[in-house]
Amino acid sequence: MNSSDRNDVRSVYIHVPFCKHRCGYCDFTLVADRDDLISEYLRALDIELGRAPNYALDTLFFGGGTPTHLSPDQLAQLFESVVTRFTLNDECEFSVEANPDGLTREKIDVLHEYGVNRISLGVQSFDQSALSFLERDHTPGDVLQAVEVVRNRIPNFSLDLIFAVPGQSLVDWHASLDAAIALSPTHLSTYGLTIEKGTAFWSRQRKGNLHRLPDELERDMYAAAIERLPAAGFTQYEISNFARAGFNCRHNEVYWSGLSYDAFGPGAACFISGRRETNHRSVTGWLKRVLAGKSPIGDSEQLAPEDHARELLVLGLRRTAGVDKPRFLKLTGYTVDALTRGRIDSHLAAKHVVESESMLRLTRAGRFFADAVVVDLL
Ligand code: SF4
Repeated sequence: MNSSDRNDVRSVYIHVPFCKHRCGYCDFTLVADRDDLISEYLRALDIELGRAPNYALDTLFFGGGTPTHLSPDQLAQLFESVVTRFTLNDECEFSVEANPDGLTREKIDVLHEYGVNRISLGVQSFDQSALSFLERDHTPGDVLQAVEVVRNRIPNFSLDLIFAVPGQSLVDWHASLDAAIALSPTHLSTYGLTIEKGTAFWSRQRKGNLHRLPDELERDMYAAAIERLPAAGFTQYEISNFARAGFNCRHNEVYWSGLSYDAFGPGAACFISGRRETNHRSVTGWLKRVLAGKSPIGDSEQLAPEDHARELLVLGLRRTAGVDKPRFLKLTGYTVDALTRGRIDSHLAAKHVVESESMLRLTRAGRFFADAVVVDLL
């Protein structure tokens, strides 16, 4: 990738791969209980960032792992590496993922001091038995404390919730939605529990020790979210995301719109001028390569124009506004009709999608079958 390709980058993702332990359902790039690697990571990240141009950013996102697992001094070192290299434009959305466990006032002070203006808090549930099942370290009480600490400094905060946890009832899920709404976040994300290959939950499921909730109950839980949250003032703007007016996650909207973004840290993937490059997913592998002066890139692919168009189509369909056909044509060179004809007709007949001359989008009923529609179109 040459440097002119990077001219239109306005968004950066930084991956912070540390957690206290690995939750049973987690397949993210991280190391658990390896705080001895944090100082090397900070050094390697600084080297990787040193090869990037001085971007002027509209969005900056630190995800993980748990970025706030780092100590206040380590967080300051991490942010220093980034904010001294890049320019944060006025109104830059500067987000950090955090977990309620160990989220101290001191850490939030560091985040605030460096200009973080959005926190995404991994709450997952307000029910202790669901939290224990998910192997989370925090209690519902920790969530309340963390929110109080966060909102004083950084009032723009999002809560992540997981539904369809084995053992969870519809009543439990309603109670978690109630508790989340009562905390008045600006944004909420709700995800059905997925069991990915390679996770501890995957092995348990294969041995018959873990049973997913029935599909119908999972659909009822999703229905509860898409009814309750809009009634409480949140607009659903994507399959799993809800926000108060003006608080959509702008960084995620960059991903979903097909715009360019750069990314740093183990397993981080950038997308620039139709090319996707993914760093080595092994944290120690990434560390060794960067510290030895080698490229951290593990995989790279130049997306064929049609593959890029299909990807954008799918991402667009996940947004409640749907795919803007004229914009899609301008961005990809493909008409939606040329890509979908023949494949989309059955979904139109089933009323899972609607279309007009200018847009194609999922219906409310279609949101329940989004994955099936996506698989069909890819
Ligand atoms: S806290 Fe989040 S990132 Fe860390 S192991 Fe659990 S699910 Fe994965």
